[in-house]
Amino acid sequence: MKAIIIGCGIAGPAMALALQKVGVQAVIYEAREVPDDTEGAFLGISPNGLNILKEYIALDEILIDYTPGKIRFFNARNKAIGVIDNAEQRSRYGSETVQVKRGLVNGALRRAAQRAGIPIEFGKRLVSIAQPEGAVTVSFADGSTAEGDLLIGCDGIHSAVRRAILPNAPEPEYTGLLSTGGFTRLDELALPADAIRMTFGERGFFAYAVSTQGEIWWFNNIAQKTAPQRHELSQSELAVLKKRLVALHKNDPEPIVSIIERAHTIEIYPIYDIPFLDQWHQGRVCLIGDAARATAPHIGQGASLALEDTLVLAQCIRDLADLQAAFARFQSLRQARVQAIIQQARKVGDSKTVPNRFQQFFRDLLLPFFVKLEARKMDWVYGYRVDWHKKLI
Ligand SMILES: Cc1cc2nc3c(=O)[nH]c(=O)nc-3n(C[C@H](O)[C@H](O)[C@H](O)COP(=O)(O)OP(=O)(O)OC[C@H]3O[C@@H](n4cnc5c(N)ncnc54)[C@H](O)[C@@H]3O)c2cc1C
Repeated sequence: MKAIIIGCGIAGPAMALALQKVGVQAVIYEAREVPDDTEGAFLGISPNGLNILKEYIALDEILIDYTPGKIRFFNARNKAIGVIDNAEQRSRYGSETVQVKRGLVNGALRRAAQRAGIPIEFGKRLVSIAQPEGAVTVSFADGSTAEGDLLIGCDGIHSAVRRAILPNAPEPEYTGLLSTGGFTRLDELALPADAIRMTFGERGFFAYAVSTQGEIWWFNNIAQKTAPQRHELSQSELAVLKKRLVALHKNDPEPIVSIIERAHTIEIYPIYDIPFLDQWHQGRVCLIGDAARATAPHIGQGASLALEDTLVLAQCIRDLADLQAAFARFQSLRQARVQAIIQQARKVGDSKTVPNRFQQFFRDLLLPFFVKLEARKMDWVYGYRVDWHKKLI
């Protein structure tokens, strides 16, 4: 069988590698004209995702620059109010949560696919899909076409594949939180590098960590009613945004304001999710990763869930009699889990909006207990394993 994969982000190349394990040849079509491994900021990958990533790449390839998964929480007066310690993750789950630059993961997966002989065509923006008897054909914005036996939509949250096969599917929902973030160097300050430091600031949430290469990776979350378009900021837009962020965090503990002032780039990332999509497939076409259902990044599961999808879908295609049965089984194996994670991420996101002083008092008091309780409850998220050798029929 020949598979068409739309999108060469995180899910696309991993899906092509998973299909190769079950004897399906894939060609990846990516809208971007050329690969750009500087795009995006950083993302969390937790043990469930890392254990699958290891199937495709040597983790050393991405662990050349990362920040730890341990989290220390502070209130606006810099009082330590809780800690999530991931020390046990390695012994419990075989890997430990890290934050890595998205471009490093994207680049490593793309190169692994290329080394495995999987063709990747750039400048191919999917515009339409047809499903004549026994095949699927696609057309791209440049006028070219392609044909295959099946198509996997790995084209992210604003998926063109989803719109083509499920025109009535709900659109991604803006969660009311805007994330901005980037990279800064403050070499003159000896900042602690043992954990991500998250501050519930006076008027916004701010997090930063020092990477293994000494760079400061940071993000903040601001409640904002409307979502701006994601785009590269001009110098003047960057200056305006910095001013706004400095004003927002001016009463929060240092080095927050210095980090913002010295940032050399800032990414704007309006946070969307897709809470529920009742159908992930149609005919010979199936959606995975953010295209099928996207989660807000607050518990760092977007990439990990997309990676889980790749192995489970390949297993379904390997074991089930036909594509319809394989896609239906895939959705039934995945939906309850991803649904629960999307809801959990929304809950954490809601805790980042700024409460009144009375609520802040109780948050500071209860957070240490709450954090410990929640950390123990993450077993079902981090301990997930795909039993590749198990036959599904
Ligand atoms: C540029 C970029 C930067 C990001 N930065 C961050 C970040 O800083 N932090 C974070 O937590 N998450 C980030 N994400 C999202 C994160 O990668 C995903 O949430 C997660 O990893 C799931 O991956 P995915 O492969 O399903 O989707 P994505 O990683 O979004 O990949 C989708 C791919 O499909 C391509 N594509 C889209 N439309 C078409 C089309 N019509 N035809 C062909 N190809 C198409 C896109 O160019 C992209 O390469 C970013 C995504 C992108 C695309």
